[in-house]
Amino acid sequence: MLKPGATIGILGGGQLGRMVASAAARLGFDAHIYTDEEDSPASRVAARTTVASFDDEAALANFAAVVDVVTTEFENVPAHSAEALVASGALVRPGANALAIAQDRVLEKRFLNEAGVATTPYAAIESLGDLEAALQGVTPPAILKTRRMGYDGKGQARLASTDDATPAWEAIGAQPAILEAMVPFEREISVIAARGADGSFAAFDPPDNTHESGILRVSRAPSTLPPHILEDAIAATRRVADALDYVGVLTVEFFVLRDGRLLANEMAPRVHNSGHWTEAACVTSQFEQHVRAIAGWPLGPTDRFARAEMHNLIGADMDDVPALIADPDVRLTLYGKRETRDGRKMGHFTRLVR
Ligand code: AMP
Repeated sequence: MLKPGATIGILGGGQLGRMVASAAARLGFDAHIYTDEEDSPASRVAARTTVASFDDEAALANFAAVVDVVTTEFENVPAHSAEALVASGALVRPGANALAIAQDRVLEKRFLNEAGVATTPYAAIESLGDLEAALQGVTPPAILKTRRMGYDGKGQARLASTDDATPAWEAIGAQPAILEAMVPFEREISVIAARGADGSFAAFDPPDNTHESGILRVSRAPSTLPPHILEDAIAATRRVADALDYVGVLTVEFFVLRDGRLLANEMAPRVHNSGHWTEAACVTSQFEQHVRAIAGWPLGPTDRFARAEMHNLIGADMDDVPALIADPDVRLTLYGKRETRDGRKMGHFTRLVR
């Protein structure tokens, strides 16, 4: 169990790292960010920063020597960097296994199925020939996604018919991929949960999520689905966390079919955009919960004391900030990014629904 004053190392310098670092500071910890980016959003709220490549083994070893635990704020941190940290004696939570699985969409789906969690039918694709063959089993409409490095709908192409094989393969850059059957979902939800170092488990109320162009727009908590479906989703997430011997906050995104069946879409070994409302509406935020878990502290209560609606501020949505700061029912969080760009997540706000 880490004592206040201990140092929490965070791989990655984005907004999730910024919010985890802030929560860590509130509990008396120092955050040390490791990022390959100068002047990152996270480094500006942290006690210390190392700016180095994720392949710089000497820098990783130095980092391992000065932090008490290491965590990650984005899943595309190379798994070999996490392994190098472990080899240097660092306590890495969640472990490199969770990272390796979550950053490869094929390993991820295979792992979810092995943990007894259903997904849409899929096929691993290495070539255009594989794709043409797979389209006989995974029939269109379908979606082709790069195996690695995809996020916010990037690296994806949709196929309306088998004729789309060549353009879709080219659109994703002709690289190892996964072909997924398009899911005619009624709803998207996510489970944001935490597993403690002692195996304890706590989930927040799952929110309903709305995406546009593959990017999250709004999360509404709690989901309006019947409780038994939400309980099933939480139970599935717990199986995933237990199978990974996971420590920290874990998110699993699900499609919900009209008949109530759940299909897992993906898992994120970290705090999640669809859990940001917890900072405004719950006794413990997802960020504090993650810090508690990786510090070996007891998990905090996840009780929600209001209904909440979280909206992302993307690109030009920043023009709404003057109105939002004047609204008494809104809690605004900005990420301190120096430059506003189209499609870039700049902040979010949570409206408490009373
Ligand atoms: P992902 O990058 O896998 O999280 O996908 C981003 C969003 O695209 C999801 O939240 C869905 O809205 C949509 N999407 C991804 N995969 C599928 C699928 N197999 N069927 C239907 N919609 C999908």
